[in-house]
Amino acid sequence: MATRHGNYIGGEWTEAASSRSFDNRNPADTSDLVGTFADSGPDDVERAVAAAHEAFPRWKALPAPKRGEILFRAAEVLLKRKEELARDMTREMGKVLDETRGDVQEAIDMTYYMAGEGRRQFGQTTPSEMPDKFQMSVRQPVGVAGLITPWNFPMAIPSWKMMPALILGNTVVVKPATDTPLSVVNLVKALEEAGLPKGVVNMVTGSGSRVGTPLMSHKDVGIVSFTGSTDVGRKVSEACAPQFKHCHLEMGGKNVIMVMDDARLDLAVEGALWGGFGTTGQRCTAASRVVVHEGVYREFVERFAAGAKALQVGNGLETKTQVGPCVNASQLETVESYVKIGREEGAKLVAGGNRLASGAHARGYFHEPTIFADCSPKMRVAYEEIFGPVVSVIPVKSLEEAIAVGNSVDYGLSASIYTQDVNKAFTAMREMYTGIFYVNAPTIGAETHLPFGGTKNTGNGHREACVQALEVFSEWKSIYIDFSGKLQRAQID
Ligand code: NAD
Repeated sequence: MATRHGNYIGGEWTEAASSRSFDNRNPADTSDLVGTFADSGPDDVERAVAAAHEAFPRWKALPAPKRGEILFRAAEVLLKRKEELARDMTREMGKVLDETRGDVQEAIDMTYYMAGEGRRQFGQTTPSEMPDKFQMSVRQPVGVAGLITPWNFPMAIPSWKMMPALILGNTVVVKPATDTPLSVVNLVKALEEAGLPKGVVNMVTGSGSRVGTPLMSHKDVGIVSFTGSTDVGRKVSEACAPQFKHCHLEMGGKNVIMVMDDARLDLAVEGALWGGFGTTGQRCTAASRVVVHEGVYREFVERFAAGAKALQVGNGLETKTQVGPCVNASQLETVESYVKIGREEGAKLVAGGNRLASGAHARGYFHEPTIFADCSPKMRVAYEEIFGPVVSVIPVKSLEEAIAVGNSVDYGLSASIYTQDVNKAFTAMREMYTGIFYVNAPTIGAETHLPFGGTKNTGNGHREACVQALEVFSEWKSIYIDFSGKLQRAQID
């Protein structure tokens, strides 16, 4: 019997108002029912926001270092349960165990990191223009934060939003992706066990339209932090605009690895395989384009294709598996449709190209790691986000052309260059208009203590992680204290 999970509202686990639930199945084996979850709607969102709203004054009043102690204990709980939580995550969304362990570890790192921010949250003091006057700036929380999260980093991304929100004194309503509610249930349980007061974190599971939409539009939600597709991000932005809510968006990517003719090809091939097919290509930072100098183009393509064909596709719980399934039927259909588009556009298929649907793959959403070579930059496979195991390789004649192609897409999340030449590395580092850049490493693998996010259609100017995350979840207050005992007039000459 699969476990039935409720919403978490005001410190209680409760059914959806409708009493309906939805199934969460393992994408590597759809006969494996991971659990059933509350199929919630606007009434549940209303209750969750009310609980968060009510809990806000008490949570805000708790000294930040004390809030940090609770987060620290939650990190300890996550650490203790890491293996079990990673297994749950692989079962619910398919990526291989090494990667789900990494996902849980990121949540642990972020929770420790933000626990430490309980003793920092530094403001400024500056000298006044006037005598006997003191001035400083302090952060203040905003209120209720509505968090809407995707399925590809089911615990890391919710933690990137939740922990900075909490340490600053905000309360939270989180809506997990419908494919990955269990990982958020596990995260919330760790906070509950750590002693988080009732109502400070609330979780409502269900669809984007019935839970996400009412949450982002709710008048008592002052911050909306969203990670997901650019199309939905645009709707979030529009919903936040009338009330001028804090609106933080992390969206799609079409990231590029640039391989120069002086690169170490063994490293570049290995990096392109990991960047392109790690997490089945379902990372916002996935290297779905590889731009290669003509001097090494043929050799690179040959070695890259051979590497892709050798990858083991299967159930992420098995140790030999290197590439798991697509997360659901619709994502698999998207991959198949882009493979068709690539063929029709005249790109050269050099590896993969097919769904895997027999034997050990019969009950999952598996697709071969697929490479299109000889792409032009504006082909749809080389230009649009696919979010699956499909990589396009584009030949170029120079570093300048590589940079121009790299920058030619609508997204700006991550880019990388493989070169031994420090001048080329620094030129690319300066010229690529992205939020993340790597030298001699693939486009994936961000760490929690540097800002994370992208330019253009990837983001709206904010950053996740690091101290930059504090900006999204707080407002600055500048404070002036006049101890002169008389009226001193500022800005009057
Ligand atoms: P998605 O946009 O379909 O869904 C994201 C979340 O929004 C889910 O919780 C979903 O239920 C909710 N949602 C969907 N429609 C909604 C609506 N109308 N109103 C309110 N909420 C709604 O994205 P996804 O398929 O879960 O994730 C894949 C996308 O996320 C890719 O585009 C990927 O690049 C992006 N992503 C970006 C980052 C980043 O940091 N830049 C990280 C991970 C994923």
